[in-house]
Amino acid sequence: MQLKLYNSLTGEKEIFKPILEGNVGMYVCGPTVYSNVHLGNVRTFLSFDFIYRTLMHLGYKVRYVRNITDAGHLTDDGNVDNDRFVKQTRLEKLEPMEIVQKYTVDFHKVLEMFNLLPPNIEPTATGHIVEQIELTQKLIDRGFAYESNGSVYFDVLEYNKRGLNYGELSKRNIEELFANTRDLDGQGEKKNPQDFALWKKASPAHIMRWNSPWGEGFPGWHLECTAMSTKYLGEKFDIHGGGMDLKFPHHECEIAQGKACNDIAPVNYWMHANMLTMNSQRMSKSTGNYILPMQLVTGENDFFEKSFHPSIVRFCFLQAHYRSVLDISNDAMIASEKGFIRLMEAVKVLNNITPDNGKQSEFNLQEWKNKCYDALNDDFNSPILIAHLFEAVKYIFALNDGKETISSEDLEDLKSTLNAFIYDVLGLQNIEENNNEKLDQTLKVLIELRNQARKSKNFDLSDQIRDKLLAEGIELKDGRDGTTYVLN
Ligand code: AMP
Ligand code: ZN
Repeated sequence: MQLKLYNSLTGEKEIFKPILEGNVGMYVCGPTVYSNVHLGNVRTFLSFDFIYRTLMHLGYKVRYVRNITDAGHLTDDGNVDNDRFVKQTRLEKLEPMEIVQKYTVDFHKVLEMFNLLPPNIEPTATGHIVEQIELTQKLIDRGFAYESNGSVYFDVLEYNKRGLNYGELSKRNIEELFANTRDLDGQGEKKNPQDFALWKKASPAHIMRWNSPWGEGFPGWHLECTAMSTKYLGEKFDIHGGGMDLKFPHHECEIAQGKACNDIAPVNYWMHANMLTMNSQRMSKSTGNYILPMQLVTGENDFFEKSFHPSIVRFCFLQAHYRSVLDISNDAMIASEKGFIRLMEAVKVLNNITPDNGKQSEFNLQEWKNKCYDALNDDFNSPILIAHLFEAVKYIFALNDGKETISSEDLEDLKSTLNAFIYDVLGLQNIEENNNEKLDQTLKVLIELRNQARKSKNFDLSDQIRDKLLAEGIELKDGRDGTTYVLN
């Protein structure tokens, strides 16, 4: 079985050949940390978390780099005063780095809630200003960039004159691009409207600013990713990912920067995750059609009837292929919840099955495993994998009803394979176990509070804690080694 993945650059599913056998270098564009991530953002990061987990499960050693964009992400109109960080700084009356810290922490918390694995390296744009200045200088020295009024722009026309092809990823034609662009960004500083900023002069209003050979300014968004991916993965690496909406101009510009700097294409496989929609409209902060992850998990929102556990949200996302649009709705979530509960019930039931080595089963375990791996190898097809898992679920319930049999060897194999797919590859979590863990932690806190009350001779309070817990069916037992509890 060979891993095939869809390469956005060629528009084809290709056999994956890593640069260094058995190793994968993967870069995914991270969030712009000027506000909370919405559920749509989570979908893209979750898609790549599944891809990362699958690659590791298939035996690759992966170096996964996902950056934090904490500087220089301009709005489309290019007006520095509209810089998202500047705006948010004013709105919240916080320093830029306070905004960055606040939303980086939020981002990490959200991803942890959905059980995303951390990347191996998480570099920040502000931590790589020196590298970005060096790259800008290199592009000027090589004739691909020019300085204009304290800013530096990439010369797209020059790039094409040298036989390179700006637009190869997004399949855009440079003449059409020129015809359709109004020069709002740059305000007459650029030679051509499609030229993009590598370094931008800071206006007096711009708080995040650094010294450079061209005066005080800040780096262009596209160059950040080139600087960080090159530093940690090299001039050419295996996989570059991000949301579909980043194809143009962001990733197109990354290709141009990489080729202009090093004379080689920076990435072998470009992968793009499709969008999350709600009410059939793309989820986005700017249109107001969005929900924050926490709002779905707590149920405090106007779109869904009830709250949903993060693992059910994760399961719902993975029921769609990463290249398909996913429309999230109340019905879709309810259906995912049902499926999730049935899947987890099967895992539990499997632990109580007694093997029978004598009889032959209708279910061919090896064939089933092959089908599951075929799905993973076929461009990370999570919905097909999940459909196969439900064939096993059916078999498990038939075993439980005594209508099917399994040998002891197959039983162990089925258990470990199912666990690997559910927990390691899909990254799902058992809700019940989690709740038990939470209950245990909560009771330990209550026992500690009761001990403190007793120490300070507040027996009224300590007795109240004991009696109220007992009324809920939780009995506290005081022993020599401390207090334990029994659930009645
Ligand atoms: P940003 O912080 O705006 O750079 O976005 C972070 C990531 O979320 C990028 O990879 C975007 O492509 C992705 N993204 C934005 N909106 C959506 C959406 N509605 N569905 C899926 N991914 C999205
Ligand atoms: Zn990027």
